[in-house]
Amino acid sequence: MREKLRLVKPEPVVSRQPTAEQIKQIFAQRLFDFTSPLYLVDKDGRLTWCNLPYRQLGERLALRDGVVELLPIDALLNEAEDRGRVIRRDIAVTLDGQSQILYAHHVPIADKQGKTNGLAGLISPVDTATKIAADLAVAQERFDDIVRLTSDWVWEVDPDLNFTMLSDRITKILGFLPQELAGRPLGALADGEAGAISLRQRFAPMTPFRDHRLEALTKSGETRLFLLSGVPTFSAATGAHTGFRGTANDITDLVRREHSLILAKEAAEIANRAKSDFLANMSHELRTPLNSIIGFADLLARQVSEMPARNQATEYAQDIQSSADQLLTMINDILDLSKIESGRLHLNEEEISVPMLCDPVIRSIQDRARAADLILAIEIPNDLPLILVDHRLTRQILVNLLSNAVKFTPAGGRIALRAFREENGGLVLEIEDNGIGIPEKDVDRVLEPFIQVESHRARRYGGTGLGLALSRRIAELHDGRLSLVSRQDHGTKVGFHIPASRLC
Ligand code: ATP
Ligand code: MG
Repeated sequence: MREKLRLVKPEPVVSRQPTAEQIKQIFAQRLFDFTSPLYLVDKDGRLTWCNLPYRQLGERLALRDGVVELLPIDALLNEAEDRGRVIRRDIAVTLDGQSQILYAHHVPIADKQGKTNGLAGLISPVDTATKIAADLAVAQERFDDIVRLTSDWVWEVDPDLNFTMLSDRITKILGFLPQELAGRPLGALADGEAGAISLRQRFAPMTPFRDHRLEALTKSGETRLFLLSGVPTFSAATGAHTGFRGTANDITDLVRREHSLILAKEAAEIANRAKSDFLANMSHELRTPLNSIIGFADLLARQVSEMPARNQATEYAQDIQSSADQLLTMINDILDLSKIESGRLHLNEEEISVPMLCDPVIRSIQDRARAADLILAIEIPNDLPLILVDHRLTRQILVNLLSNAVKFTPAGGRIALRAFREENGGLVLEIEDNGIGIPEKDVDRVLEPFIQVESHRARRYGGTGLGLALSRRIAELHDGRLSLVSRQDHGTKVGFHIPASRLC
């Protein structure tokens, strides 16, 4: 075949220079190949011409005739005929696995008579820059959300640990604007030189780290605790160390909550221990009068049958009565306290004068004070107003406080019961003694239920540790309060402060 061709007489030599028309065509073709996808369809909707980008787009979409296959060409031709102007028609496609919208504009092509005999279509290019920007915005949003959920603020520093980037949330947490801190050392945030040093040591090995505790100062001077995590950064181009980036979590509130939980747990443990002590103590306290009751009742029973001396029987009966009273008081205390604590104890309020209120209490305590060789001074002026209180419960406060004074004051001491007006318009019922007093560290504790100073000593004095706690609760039920001032080896002063609203 080749041989034959060689024998053919050569064509006359023609100029290789393209004609001006050819140049125009080549130029137009080139130009078309660098623009957006273009195509022409005839009046029957057949594709008659297209440029290279159109063909490439068709290949990517696996459409032999390109996107015209997806267009309602007949309807477009009719519309073009009717309106005679450019028609916009978007095309939904799946390109590279992603749903996209292609914008297509159609220009009617008319014959010499002005009758539409085809369409020229142009597809707006898928703008990669816009797409990248949109993708970037989504990625940024995703990043921001994750950062917000996993940490409070993010930071970047240069190799000298000066801030190069800070997330906006730092303003909410530390009060500084990111630009205020830009260029400043990370260590400057630390509350104290020790914190700054430990921070520098942490960064020195240029290795990733987690949960480094940093106490940082907010702009307003408050200390907050952060957990810092970070990784060293390196230039992708040169591999040089460019600094660190990482996250910071504010754990101040968490630590505070943890701390208060620990305190609450400790308090619960102390209360629990006190209750156990109380149970042990109370069984002893219950057993003592019970033994007396049983013992004397036994003696009485035996002696009655042997016709005992009248006096002795009376004495035994009195002992039984006082032991039973003691038991009753204790049980009443426990019942009252539990009623108050569960909010079931209600006041039975009635007006009464202070001397009337104190009289039975004084009579009941006088003998005990005398027996203990104590002087009992009563300092109640006559001109005090009436008070609106629960008589039984208020007397119980006075009995509890006076009993303590008698119990904890050595022989020869002095006890005073006094009443006076306060500056705030209220009235105070006060019991003072010059007894053994309470060590400073225990002054606040003794107002809690079951607490006795040094249980062995308290046991020596008897009691269950309920008197003061109960008195305080009763005072509070009256909208008043109980005050306690005491000095070891000097004495104690306890006051029931009745508010002005209860004076008549
Ligand atoms: P209870 O009153 O239940 O019989 P108690 O007297 O031990 O027992 P509280 O009246 O609550 O209990 O007092 C608690 C503790 O406070 C006492 O055990 C004692 O250690 C101390 N205390 C109370 N009053 C005085 C006081 N006037 N002087 C010294 N210590 C006191
Ligand atoms: Mg007491």
